[in-house]
Amino acid sequence: MQTITITKSVAVVANYDVLVLGGGPAGVFAALAAARQGAKCAIVEQYGFLGGMATAGLVMPLSVFTYQNKRVIGGIPWEFLERLEAMGGGYIEKPLGNVAFDPELYKLCMQRMVLEAGVDLYMHSYLTGCTMGDNGTIQCAIIENKNGTEALAAKVFVDCTGDADLAAMAGVPMQPQNGEPLQPLSTYFVLAGVDTSSPLISEAMHHNKQGVNCHCLPIREYLLEHAEELNLPEFGGPWFCTTLHDGCVAVNMTRAAGDACNNRDYTAAECRLREDVYRMADCLRNNFKEFENCYVSAVATQAGIRETRRIKGVHTMSAEEYISGYQYTDSISRGAHPIDIHATKGNSQVTHFLEQAAYVPYRALIAENFPNLLVAGRCISADRKAFASMRVQASCMGTGQAAGVAAAMCAASGCTVQSVDIDSLVSKLREIGAEI
Ligand SMILES: Cc1cc2nc3c(=O)[nH]c(=O)nc-3n(C[C@H](O)[C@H](O)[C@H](O)COP(=O)(O)OP(=O)(O)OC[C@H]3O[C@@H](n4cnc5c(N)ncnc54)[C@H](O)[C@@H]3O)c2cc1C
Repeated sequence: MQTITITKSVAVVANYDVLVLGGGPAGVFAALAAARQGAKCAIVEQYGFLGGMATAGLVMPLSVFTYQNKRVIGGIPWEFLERLEAMGGGYIEKPLGNVAFDPELYKLCMQRMVLEAGVDLYMHSYLTGCTMGDNGTIQCAIIENKNGTEALAAKVFVDCTGDADLAAMAGVPMQPQNGEPLQPLSTYFVLAGVDTSSPLISEAMHHNKQGVNCHCLPIREYLLEHAEELNLPEFGGPWFCTTLHDGCVAVNMTRAAGDACNNRDYTAAECRLREDVYRMADCLRNNFKEFENCYVSAVATQAGIRETRRIKGVHTMSAEEYISGYQYTDSISRGAHPIDIHATKGNSQVTHFLEQAAYVPYRALIAENFPNLLVAGRCISADRKAFASMRVQASCMGTGQAAGVAAAMCAASGCTVQSVDIDSLVSKLREIGAEI
């Protein structure tokens, strides 16, 4: 393949204590936590809004803040939830603790909190690279936007891109795939004109039952039985979720294999899934009276990504530790969602309910030999099964909050992320309301 070499001078346009890459559920709370600890902080985000998969992917509900009615994710994420509810944009489904939300108000609520905390925002800015100093230290993140190429220097970086983009650029080793397929990509869509007051839909769109899959079983059974005559592509669920607006449900149903970190794969999946959205909407309209007047009112900005890269951290959380609620000496957050693995091919899903709420160790947020890098959210160090629970939004918010506090401590003291004082980190997290 022909190659070209590009050399250019790039201005270092700002210098931060903590720079967060990615403004999704993990990144927003990493930035809020760091800024509230006094760090000068910024977020780099490719879109013109915050929320990541929750808003760009229309992924709902927001799972899950409680385990058997006991809160397991607290602090700033809980404050967000209360503010979102007060704005009329969130609704906690009890007893399960899933949160139904309005994605536009989710964006607005996050944006308000971030700006109030004094966090700088670089929207419409894509992280494309980094410069490295000695001994694995990241010096600058390189971003591209309409200003051109810019560099942002920071003492500490928190990778919340979901795909571990910064960590990969810096050369952090990643979890091996061991020949196992990635979980499938799914494009969410919103249907309007649905009979949301019908018993079938009003029950299915509230994900509130503990210990059961919240998919719409009668529709699933019909679709599986008539799959051939309906000529439906592979599907999951379907799961319907209220957007808090009468007549509207978000639909999680499409499914395609693909690696979102491979541009050609992801492009092909986007195009196929957009077609599938309309095939599935037609199928629902033509076969179920609750959908007879429905139409597609929104398609997610991007195909939802369940799984891509995860770092090989100082500790990799195993499924055994996770399911049994193993308490690490450096636990910094928790998770309460079932282990939830969607088949890459076909219509199935493996779900494993937890014996108790799980713990997350600080060592899963850092790698050996990278002294000023933390990760949070979907790309932390976990095996495939533990990850399949930790990937949900509230868990990502919890690790973001912990990474933000740790990053601010490192920036203030000059210590490496590997030598953070764990007792002090945990007590700061408890002070701000984290449940550990
Ligand atoms: C189909 C599907 C169903 C799901 N169901 C649920 C559910 O029911 N409940 C639940 O809670 N969770 C669910 N999830 C999981 C959850 O939405 C995500 O795992 C979670 O949002 C991950 O948060 P994050 O902050 O780590 O990453 P993301 O949400 O992916 O956020 C990453 C952010 O970084 C930005 N970014 C990425 N790369 C760059 C770059 N190079 N430059 C600049 N910006 C960048 C992105 O735009 C994004 O804003 C589901 C996911 C999918 C795909």
